[in-house]
Amino acid sequence: MSNLVLSFNNKKIKKIKNPEYILGGKGTNLARMGNLGLPVPPGFIISTEVCELFYKNKKKLPKQVLKNIYLELKDIEKLTSKKFGSLKNPLLVSVRSGARVSMPGMMDTVLNLGLNDQTVKALTKKTLNGRFAKDSYRRFIQMYSNVVLNIEGYLFEEMIDNQKLNKGVLLDTELEETDWDELIQRFKELVKRQTKKNFPQSVQEQLNGAIRAVFLSWDSQRAKTYRKLNQIPDYWGTAVNVQSMVFGNMGKDCLTGVVFTRNPSTGENVFFGEYLIDAQGEDVVAGTRTPQHITKKAKIVAGSKEKSMEETMPKVFQDLKKTLLKLEKYYKDMQDVEFTVENKKLWILQTRSGKRTAHAGIKIAVDMVAEKLISKKKAILRIDPNTLGTLLHPSLNRKVERKIITKGLPASPGAASGKVVFTAEEAERLNDMMQNTILVRVETSPEDIHGMHAAKGVLTARGGMTSHAAVVARGMGRPCVSGSTEIIIDYNLKQFKSGKIIVKEGDIITIDGTNGEVILGTVPTIQPKMSSYFSTIMKWANEFKKLKVRTNAETEKDSKVARDFGAEGIGLCRTEHMFFDQERILSVREMILSKSIEGRNNALAKLLPHQKNDFKSIFKVMKGLPVTIRLLDPPLHEFLPKTDREIEEVARSTNLDSKEVKDRIEELHEQNPMLGHRGCRLGISFPEIYEMQCEAIFEALIECKKEKIKPVIAEIMIPLISTDTELKILRILVDRIANKIQKKYKTKIDYIVGTMIELPRAALQAKKISKYADFFSFGTNDLTQTTFGISRDDSGKFLNDYLNNKIFEIDPFVSLDQNGVGELIEIASTRGRQFNKKIKLGICGEHGGDPRSIEFCSKTGLHYVSCSPFRVPVAILAAAQSELKK
Ligand code: PEP
Ligand code: MG
Repeated sequence: MSNLVLSFNNKKIKKIKNPEYILGGKGTNLARMGNLGLPVPPGFIISTEVCELFYKNKKKLPKQVLKNIYLELKDIEKLTSKKFGSLKNPLLVSVRSGARVSMPGMMDTVLNLGLNDQTVKALTKKTLNGRFAKDSYRRFIQMYSNVVLNIEGYLFEEMIDNQKLNKGVLLDTELEETDWDELIQRFKELVKRQTKKNFPQSVQEQLNGAIRAVFLSWDSQRAKTYRKLNQIPDYWGTAVNVQSMVFGNMGKDCLTGVVFTRNPSTGENVFFGEYLIDAQGEDVVAGTRTPQHITKKAKIVAGSKEKSMEETMPKVFQDLKKTLLKLEKYYKDMQDVEFTVENKKLWILQTRSGKRTAHAGIKIAVDMVAEKLISKKKAILRIDPNTLGTLLHPSLNRKVERKIITKGLPASPGAASGKVVFTAEEAERLNDMMQNTILVRVETSPEDIHGMHAAKGVLTARGGMTSHAAVVARGMGRPCVSGSTEIIIDYNLKQFKSGKIIVKEGDIITIDGTNGEVILGTVPTIQPKMSSYFSTIMKWANEFKKLKVRTNAETEKDSKVARDFGAEGIGLCRTEHMFFDQERILSVREMILSKSIEGRNNALAKLLPHQKNDFKSIFKVMKGLPVTIRLLDPPLHEFLPKTDREIEEVARSTNLDSKEVKDRIEELHEQNPMLGHRGCRLGISFPEIYEMQCEAIFEALIECKKEKIKPVIAEIMIPLISTDTELKILRILVDRIANKIQKKYKTKIDYIVGTMIELPRAALQAKKISKYADFFSFGTNDLTQTTFGISRDDSGKFLNDYLNNKIFEIDPFVSLDQNGVGELIEIASTRGRQFNKKIKLGICGEHGGDPRSIEFCSKTGLHYVSCSPFRVPVAILAAAQSELKK
């Protein structure tokens, strides 16, 4: 335990491997910026090792740590010529969290710490600015009380609002020193009422309390939710940064701001940010005052009349510009920077890699390769494959007339329609009922993240482009319109007003996060076109990847979408989906209900031309590529009529009476259909079904050949086998039908036969099974279900308990259980290859579109992954990354 507390300028930091792990992202970057010679206020880091000790030590700070903190404070005092708790020249500090990766807004911060009834007088005297000193003190009481003493923040805000009302002013900055005096008194009384104790006057007690609170915030519900959504492990812990304060709220030559080195929405290479004169950092993010633009150009583009920082403080702006360029060059990535100007001197408080939309991420990566800042390899590794999904978000159809009720800031692109809800809880409740919602809030706070996740979009009345709502929505890929200042929200009446229009909870609105429009009702959307940046990234990814990426598709349309996205064939065509078509379902029902082979064959004969045409249309799209067609898999009763009307319809067409149909339905009922009469078991019991399907496939192949369409490589796949004999019997069936068709049409057919590995026994018996298989495709949906013995359809009911109790780190139906299911895949691959060296191996369960699972497949030496069409780009990128990480 050697890295408990370290100052930003400790030389040791340079030698620490992966310093973020110990010092957190924020602390590491502050230390790095110091090394670059940038103006960083002095401070120190209490490492993540202390966080671990803190939790082990019954949530107390160990003595050794307290001693180290004391020593580091002394150093800051020397560097700033101020003293903590001094009655002459008091040192004030900020206490901020700093996890390994940034978790914007999720954890706690306390600013202006070190103020009490005495030091505030000293600060007044020293700065000759009583208003500033009192403003800082009231801010401190507010933050400390909220973060450390758990007093609701709105209680303080209400008092401030009342004071402004009494004074007839609108802005906090219009309140005078005496107003803050009164408010400070009332704040302290509130603290006394709520905690039965006086607001702490000991600066040491304040510091210890704040450090403790930051560590505790790692375990807060909102931080836990954020970690769960972002797959951040609990054991990482957070570091705490204690840093001497600089003040943006000391008067008109002070300001505070947030700036991105490039536009995080579009990726454009221009500074993008906001600032506020005479304010502290939280004012910009909280959205209580409307911040102004950093650059003159941005101001003009936005049509704002307020002065940009470039115009207000041209010299400081130049310093900022130089700093931003230096930071980007050093980090070789777009930075999100917090800064403060105190009496015209620039201070940098934080830099981190900026959160960005998927589109911006791609553009920035491609641009930086062109700027020779990063390599193609780095560009590929930098993009989170999961974010690509958001690029495929639809946009509003501009040709359709729409009733725009108001406009806000285009905070996170994409469009969404849904019912208006005013609370995160309601968004979650309706989401559980599969209903789309738009979460409407005055402003969002970290408590709302579960609702932002559940909603399809977010609309806020307050807040700028870097507000909590904007940052979080962009990170989540949710469309967001923020700072829609015309709307007046009434949480009690559950409605908002925009001019004369009243929108109530449950009414449908549409938001367009790309241009900020808020529209009444639903607006139809159109699918996006891929940008040239996207194509470039896909091209590079294809150059690097070895794993093939196929798609799961059973319609011409899906096949086309997937092929356009770069799919290299079909890895799973679920033929049963073709049975559900209106025209066919009656024949399918006839087939199932008939008790004789003749009856079944009659019905199958009606289905054959439909199946053949389906296959033909897919083969035409996939020409030249492999297409895996799975023979019928689900239990037959899934196709049976359910309503009385359907039962009567089937009875009529099968010449049975309704009672007979109902009896047959009863007969086919299974207690546990997933383990019942399904998969290859159907082929064994009713070979004529598989025969018809094979005929349809082979005839489709021959007809395509006649039409001179480049042939696909047909792969006929038998589902859910557990023994080699099942496969042997069914392979003979496929070959027999192939021979029959070849003879009939005097044409040779190229095809191969393989099986799904979906049952543990099949994985273990892979060597024997591979004797009859040209390929294995791991059906990891069923393999997960059968390995865990957990129903894939019912796991939702208890999955959260398993995640909360850390039994599962992640839902095994979403990301492959690499230890258990993964081991079976490895065993099956090795044993399969023992007999059949050339066996083709792939995966076609949902995991085929999950980046982590793809990395596992790549390591295990599978040849391809197969996923739904819209996941194809995600899989291509993940496959390239897996190769580059090897
Ligand atoms: C599987 O089980 O993983 C699979 C792809 O088949 P299905 O989801 O159709 O059961
Ligand atoms: Mg399956």
